[in-house]
Amino acid sequence: MVSQSTRVAIIGGGMGGLTAAIALTRIAGVDVTVFEQASRLGEVGAGVTVAPNAARVLDALGVLDRIRSLGAVPDGHGVYLDAMGGLVTDAAWEDSAKRYQNIGMYRPDLIGALAAEVDPERIRLGHRLRSVEPLGSGVRLAFENGVEEDFDAVIGADGIHSVVRKSVDQHPDPVYSGYIVYRGVVDASRLPENWPMISQVWMGDSRHFMCYPLQQRKLFNFVAGIPSDRPLNGPWSGSAEVSELAAEFAGDGWDPRLQSFIAAIERTFWWGLFDHEPLTNWSNGPITLLGDAAHTMLPHQGQGVNQAIEDSMALATFLAAADGVDGIPEAFRRYAAVRMQRTAILQNGSRRAGAMFDAQYEFANLEKRDADIRVGRDFRRGAVFDYDAQKVAEQALTRFRRIPA
Ligand SMILES: Cc1cc2nc3c(=O)[nH]c(=O)nc-3n(C[C@H](O)[C@H](O)[C@H](O)COP(=O)(O)OP(=O)(O)OC[C@H]3O[C@@H](n4cnc5c(N)ncnc54)[C@H](O)[C@@H]3O)c2cc1C
Repeated sequence: MVSQSTRVAIIGGGMGGLTAAIALTRIAGVDVTVFEQASRLGEVGAGVTVAPNAARVLDALGVLDRIRSLGAVPDGHGVYLDAMGGLVTDAAWEDSAKRYQNIGMYRPDLIGALAAEVDPERIRLGHRLRSVEPLGSGVRLAFENGVEEDFDAVIGADGIHSVVRKSVDQHPDPVYSGYIVYRGVVDASRLPENWPMISQVWMGDSRHFMCYPLQQRKLFNFVAGIPSDRPLNGPWSGSAEVSELAAEFAGDGWDPRLQSFIAAIERTFWWGLFDHEPLTNWSNGPITLLGDAAHTMLPHQGQGVNQAIEDSMALATFLAAADGVDGIPEAFRRYAAVRMQRTAILQNGSRRAGAMFDAQYEFANLEKRDADIRVGRDFRRGAVFDYDAQKVAEQALTRFRRIPA
């Protein structure tokens, strides 16, 4: 068994790293230290959906009630609309048991709620990882501020441009997808009267627009996906003019309701979208990956953070069953074997969802696109929302126990 004397470092204090810290402390009972490069924990001023598959994990970790109280549960299912606002189909928003629903979260609220569950002494800010050196047993971490420290294991939750990933294998870097999003939040009081408290996605030629409520319905999140040949070898996000965004959805080919939503926006910023082929290997001895570091994916299924939350539960379950410190590499291999399959499906599905939203799907065959979105809705409820990361990891452990290590 691993124990409180097993020292595990988590690189990255984002939503993935903080959830991993909670899960590893509460489920595996190990001694966790989170290293974050920034001088304070924070997130961009935009929204994120905590989906039922992640809500189930957060419930098992004892943090769901707080998160739900800060977020916004929609009034019912969301809708997919064509460019003029015609209904294509409704969207899945809860699991089959109707126990967990989508929760729209303002990102700074979610990071704050997760951080509040981690002992502040276990979070070391201003520590930018430079390198990971494998030792006979464990790893030596070197930070840009000159600190060096040894741990029994390290988890790379350091996002899309992960440094830890380089210590796992010769993986290619994520690539720019050719799309940017305009993102931001708008005060709900600025929206037209009786604006529906649900998620809505308008799908038009080469672009789409999504919005949903956040923060006890006081805010609405928006994400507008647009093709762009903006070179992204420099910064991959920045501030933008609302007029640029409005111009992308102007004219009589777009729903006037959508245009009235855009007219209420005061501020926006752009963000480059990166994609990654599923990695072939997530772990190397006592080093493993979690969240975007392991499975950067396009945001079109809203599953990036949700998968990081599932990863955290699976990792904690496998680590809790490890045969002491020497058993950690095997626990990490087992974790990766289970999680790589799951996240590869979502990486590929997110790419496909983007092509659907932007009417680029199957050579712009919109009838087929609409039929496939309807099928996808049921898949989303069953295969994505009903997934129980803890149960799947426990079942896998039973199978692995029958195979000699
Ligand atoms: C437009 C858009 C909408 C999205 N919507 C959703 C959604 O609705 N639902 C969803 O589930 N996902 C969504 N996502 C995806 C989601 O934002 C990411 O998957 C998620 O933020 C990844 O979390 P993470 O903790 O793995 O990485 P990050 O959030 O990137 O955190 C990594 C952390 O590591 C730190 N770090 C990096 N390098 C180092 C280093 N060398 N040393 C120390 N610290 C380091 C960083 O400062 C950061 O704090 C969306 C993404 C976009 C772009």
